[in-house]
Amino acid sequence: MNDTSFDLKDMNILIVDDVPKNIDVLRKMLGESGFIISVAPSGETALKLVNKNKPDLILLDVMMPGISGFETCERLKADSNTAHIPILFVTARTEVEAVVEGFKVGGVDYIAKPFREEEVLARIKTQLSIKKLLLEKNKLIEKLDSLSRIDPLTGISNRRDMMEKLENEQSRFERYGKSFSVIMCDIDHFKKVNDQYGHDFGDYALKEVAILLKEQIRELDKLSRWGGEEFFIVLPETNLMGAVNVAEKMRKSIESYSFEFGGATLRISMSFGVSCHANEGVKLDDLLKETDRFLYKAKDKGRNTVVSI
Ligand code: GH3
Ligand code: MG
Ligand code: MG
Repeated sequence: MNDTSFDLKDMNILIVDDVPKNIDVLRKMLGESGFIISVAPSGETALKLVNKNKPDLILLDVMMPGISGFETCERLKADSNTAHIPILFVTARTEVEAVVEGFKVGGVDYIAKPFREEEVLARIKTQLSIKKLLLEKNKLIEKLDSLSRIDPLTGISNRRDMMEKLENEQSRFERYGKSFSVIMCDIDHFKKVNDQYGHDFGDYALKEVAILLKEQIRELDKLSRWGGEEFFIVLPETNLMGAVNVAEKMRKSIESYSFEFGGATLRISMSFGVSCHANEGVKLDDLLKETDRFLYKAKDKGRNTVVSI
């Protein structure tokens, strides 16, 4: 890690010290390095300032009138809004007990006064680099998490994401009695589409189907690719009749759409199973099994149809 690995310009440092001269020395030195500086003459003021200034790092004196630096640090670490801010103690209290206490209350470094400017700068940069790496790591985790919930072909939710949504809906039902409905649907004779028109046509059709299905749902609802050519929709706070209406609209929009790709034109259809979760004691698994049964009933009845009983 070197000095140029990140930009210090926009980094915000809060200096907390009761002696104006100490503040002046640190402010001058850090200002010259391009940091944005704010200052507080006491722990109390620091605690008030942090939520407004949102500093990237805090230099904290220990011995101050009012609450001490150690206590200030403890309070900042106890608040989830400020717990992530690295705190470096800058203090004349150099006995080992004080140093140990500084780390115990959540400080990340301990600098003895009188300090050498280069050393303070080096220690600050190290802490800011660590902080930056942590932020990058968290962003990456968030990105991976959202990628792991998306079906790469259609760009809609995958089964894993849908299962989580269903579990949420199930808890909402158990806690507040909010019923919800689900739709399971499957493209009819899709194997033939692939066989006769090629896999690329099949992929194109899956993408179009996802778009057509999405057009029929509200912001609150969620569409997912459940597997192969099977899609699954959850409709919060929707009764069976409402869900059957949505499924019927979906069925019609697929049936009437002209799928055109690579010079070929084709009509396809889908079969639908619809269930409503409105009875206590019914498990999520039971609901899914019932919806699956209805879907297969729709296939049995000759496909391109909606079954809900
Ligand atoms: P049914 O009406 O009974 O549902 O018949 P079907 O032919 O649709 O059902 P079957 O389960 O026999 O075949 C499903 C086909 O879906 C076979 C498989 O190749 C195709 N498929 C599944 N996933 C994809 C995909 O990602 N891309 C393409 N192109 N085809 C897929
Ligand atoms: Mg002091
Ligand atoms: Mg099928």
